[in-house]
Amino acid sequence: MKIGDYSISTVDFPGMPSLVIFLAGCPFRCPYCHNPELIDGGKNAPLKDIYNKILESKNLVDALVISGGEPLLQIDELEKVLEFAKSQNLKTKLDTNGYQPEYINRIKGLVDYVALDVKAPFEKYEKMFGFDGARVQEAMNILSKSNVFLECRTTYVPGLLKPEDIINIATQIQCDLYVIQQFRNRMVFDPKLKNVNPPSPPILRDIAKKAKEYCENVKIRTQEFGEEEI
Ligand code: SF4
Repeated sequence: MKIGDYSISTVDFPGMPSLVIFLAGCPFRCPYCHNPELIDGGKNAPLKDIYNKILESKNLVDALVISGGEPLLQIDELEKVLEFAKSQNLKTKLDTNGYQPEYINRIKGLVDYVALDVKAPFEKYEKMFGFDGARVQEAMNILSKSNVFLECRTTYVPGLLKPEDIINIATQIQCDLYVIQQFRNRMVFDPKLKNVNPPSPPILRDIAKKAKEYCENVKIRTQEFGEEEI
């Protein structure tokens, strides 16, 4: 399996300490990607090493989070790792860009929580990212009808998205929670974004209040204050 790294986290699975495994590889090139080294990088790790890492961490954590990169690119191994985590009674969470809805059915019974990127209004994906937003919408539709807790999340990058785009997204999504994330410029794929300042928490709160007219549960996620319910 191609992986980036592991970390122990208190914020990646809500309310529980978790082992996070960052899987390598992604077909996208989001300009604001904060793990750009994973897009084409990573190192090979046999499944037995990953199982051992899960066993070693079991006394410290209650959950396994699979992030990336894009984890669904390695669906066969991903499925096995999730099965192993479940056999160890861990909660599981998957972070995904949703571009492979055909794989969602294979893992939806193995995950408790999915954080799905909704990067733009679905009709704007093609122009902004060069791929079909209908695929992400399909992934969302499958997950919203399953037992998985579904978080849709958007990184608000001033200049790339307008506040109206966030409101438009809020009218299009079906999920248990919508999170508007603050763009951060410390580590980005496109160096031009290093000059773009992160939006302030008050700006995000204003946008989120408008989004809340369409979504019942809305949060913002900022470096300054962590997660805030709106
Ligand atoms: S932000 Fe996510 S989807 Fe975009 S390039 Fe980075 S890992 Fe891929």
